[in-house]
Amino acid sequence: MKIPALAVSCLLSAAAWAAGPKYVFLFIGDGFSVPQRMVAEEFSRAIGRGELAVNHLKCHATTRTCSATSLITDSAAAATAIACGCKTGNGKVGVDAEGGKACSVAEVAHMNGRKVGIVSDCYITHATPAGFYAHRENRGALYQIGLDLIASGFEYFAGGGFGGKSNDVKDPEYRGNLYDLVAQAGYQVATNRTMFAALKPGAGKAFFAACDGHMPHAIDRPASMPTLAEMTTKGIELLDGPGGFFMMVEGGTLDFSGHANDAATNLREVLALDDAVRVAKEFQDRHREDTLIVTTGDHETGGMAMGFAGTGYAMHVKRLACQKRSRTGFKEVVKATRAAARKEGREFTFEDSKPLLKECFGFDFSTASGRSGLDDKIAGGKYAANTETDDDRIALTSGDVEALKAAFARNKLHDAARRIISEKAGVGWSSGAHTALPVLTTSQGPGAEILSGFIDNADIGMKLKSLYY
Ligand SMILES: [Zn+2]
Repeated sequence: MKIPALAVSCLLSAAAWAAGPKYVFLFIGDGFSVPQRMVAEEFSRAIGRGELAVNHLKCHATTRTCSATSLITDSAAAATAIACGCKTGNGKVGVDAEGGKACSVAEVAHMNGRKVGIVSDCYITHATPAGFYAHRENRGALYQIGLDLIASGFEYFAGGGFGGKSNDVKDPEYRGNLYDLVAQAGYQVATNRTMFAALKPGAGKAFFAACDGHMPHAIDRPASMPTLAEMTTKGIELLDGPGGFFMMVEGGTLDFSGHANDAATNLREVLALDDAVRVAKEFQDRHREDTLIVTTGDHETGGMAMGFAGTGYAMHVKRLACQKRSRTGFKEVVKATRAAARKEGREFTFEDSKPLLKECFGFDFSTASGRSGLDDKIAGGKYAANTETDDDRIALTSGDVEALKAAFARNKLHDAARRIISEKAGVGWSSGAHTALPVLTTSQGPGAEILSGFIDNADIGMKLKSLYY
């Protein structure tokens, strides 16, 4: 179904109250296509967590992601398509290809009397959340996007804070620190878990910043920071009422693990997003007639593949459980250990890094037998030295150890480690950037059937908005 261009604009009055589902959850994984869904699905089953809620909603739609300017979209153009139903150029948020304002489904829902929540584990002025409340030709205009956030009047924001250059005093529109401005606009501002827990309905709009910038990856995230699922639960608590709500929840740091080709970190992000979808499904079970859940991705990131030439037909996704820190988290561990050694007047050697690699990646150096990785590859696709049943450790070949040593010398141990564990799990990567692979949109609840078959990402915004007309 194609909605006329006029419907993309903001021409809607509050008289349209009560049209559309009372409750809408929209989950967006940044860099979340079929491979990310399925690696996490297989991992979740392998560790006994069961199937992913995000994959098992009733309606499915294969979804094209191209922007107005490229077959490969960025998150700004994709967010604009998903939120506003409008194709635009890469880098633009909430405006069409010519720069004209495009109205988002969140704004339409708000005008229909719904309370609105925007949740992301990236900073809250980042491209995906911005697509729902901001209208700027440059996704990098973070301060101006922050002003749009405040002007939106949406009832709940949670996740990362005003990070990056969100508080750039040199911005031509600068009129004060955004944290001050959001408080002056009547928001309860919370900046730690205790304050987050104290946010209560009936006390006005709420703004929660778990940290100033992007939240850490789920695999590294300290218990002091709420999860996406907890921020979704809080959103329900704050937004529920007679008028209903619209809530967008983004798994945004997922994209960074795709860019880093960091498979274990990537699937842990998917599980964190899935935990939030489970919260929505539990809510839907209690409000079956009134609740629509939609999940999608804005694009694929990394060219993730289920299969790696070196492991032939075998995949060992469970081995990814051996990884306990992200690539970036491990980089910090190495940096801190190196600095501590320097302080004690010692040199930090490759031998010193072995316990760290064992702890953070499950690497077993005792198996490096003299066979190189290449020898293993030639010998029938058995690239990994692990036996077929051994998923509790990552058995290294001498070739792996040589690669780690060389990476250590270049201060790139984190890159070698994430590559080795990806390969031994059978996960391949073809890019460090976004790709044009379609994403999967899944949905369930009243109106879900409008997102079925082969669709375009702009259909999501257009069709969701049409529910409110
Ligand atoms: Zn990206």
